[in-house]
Amino acid sequence: MVKKIIEDLCFGCGLCVDICTEDVLRFDETRKKPYVKYPRDCVACLFCEAGCPVGAIEVELTRGRRMPEVM
Ligand code: SF4
Ligand code: SF4
Repeated sequence: MVKKIIEDLCFGCGLCVDICTEDVLRFDETRKKPYVKYPRDCVACLFCEAGCPVGAIEVELTRGRRMPEVM
């Protein structure tokens, strides 16, 4: 899941929103900042964290969606 978006670092380029293949992030045009719209869809691929030019996104290695128990 996306752990946090550090807004003081973010300069509003929107790259993270474009790069997310799971459509988790949205861009707030008023505030010029991204936000997590669908946290449960995050698959922790780290694309957004790796792609952010200023390191403003931190992702933790858990999926937003609870995975089924494996026997
Ligand atoms: S990629 Fe980084 S700087 Fe660009 S909008 Fe996303 S969090 Fe902000
Ligand atoms: S870790 Fe991957 S799925 Fe989750 S918000 Fe970032 S780009 Fe999207």
